Amino acid sequence: MIYFGGQIVSEKLRAGVVTGKEYEKLVAACKDGGYALAAVNVTSSSTVNAVLEAAARNNSDIIIQVSNGGAGFYGGPAYPDSLKGKVLGAVSLARHIHLMAEGYGVCVVLHTDHANRGLLPWIDGLLEEGQKFREETGKPLYTSHMIDLSEEDLEENIGTCAAYLEKMAALDMSLEIELGVTGGEEDGVGSEHTGADNPKLYTQPEDVVYAYEKLNPLGHFSVAASFGNVHGVYKPGNVKLRPVILKDSQELMSERYNLPEKSLDLVFHGGSGSSEAEISEAVSYGVFKMNVDTDLQYAYSEPVATYVNANQNAFIAQIDPETGQPLKSKYDPRKWVRQAELGMGAKLDEIISVLNSKGKSLAEK
Ligand SMILES: [Zn+2]
Repeated sequence: MIYFGGQIVSEKLRAGVVTGKEYEKLVAACKDGGYALAAVNVTSSSTVNAVLEAAARNNSDIIIQVSNGGAGFYGGPAYPDSLKGKVLGAVSLARHIHLMAEGYGVCVVLHTDHANRGLLPWIDGLLEEGQKFREETGKPLYTSHMIDLSEEDLEENIGTCAAYLEKMAALDMSLEIELGVTGGEEDGVGSEHTGADNPKLYTQPEDVVYAYEKLNPLGHFSVAASFGNVHGVYKPGNVKLRPVILKDSQELMSERYNLPEKSLDLVFHGGSGSSEAEISEAVSYGVFKMNVDTDLQYAYSEPVATYVNANQNAFIAQIDPETGQPLKSKYDPRKWVRQAELGMGAKLDEIISVLNSKGKSLAEK
């Protein structure tokens, strides 16, 4: 922080992909400024471009992330070696963003989404590629990777995460972990008891303290804590959202280790479908990142249906059967893919304003 005339002015950063200490400065600025960054899942250069366009329009820094499935799609779903395709797809995506992001004039965090134990070979491949990229450019390929071992025992989860954090810190990278299971539509969370002491639905503050104790000496990390949030959108009412869990975790940490308030860097998974008030409350407790996937998938796809319905002839034949005119200008994929990008961007405008990051980019202009 730079103190200027009694006011705290956040230090400016270079536009483009931010990593290492610059990433930590960006996270600190979010928490100090009471805002969070949208972390958008992408699957193609089209979705990447839509995100960069919206971030620039809003003068907001942004997190772009890819799941293993998204990386496989980016690399091409027919790539003969599936694991290698997912590694190289993620490398290709990252290189696209390293090349293009700076020109949009905002800071971009590059991140990989959920990897459970079965997906650790994907992370291993990315760390190998990250090492090569660092030798070539002096920068990490990704700002951070996420490892989600929340379905395992706490000791196993944190033990494995600690081993990975050591490797990542050596590459100037950060790690995101998950504590407590963020329910998804496949998890049938409604069948379990839903009290605040259920560690599957609600991360226990003592578990957060344990993670801090083991991971903090090794490098920078962030925590996705469960507070009744779910992945995807489905019928509400089963599980109560309790953002106060995040506050309790922060307070226990500060008390135990004599730390300033909101020392933990918290991540909100399963943000789709949450109310503005719930999001704002979570952000006020030190959430700097909110994952958004499902709502933006819909926002990308819906305009395509509208476009196809409005131009039906162009999706039945190449020549209009009524007028004899060629329909190339209507079915050109750029026409309807662009509608998808605009739809995704418009939804992202809304999300950025709810997260309060609009106009707050730290990038030097
Ligand atoms: Zn999660």
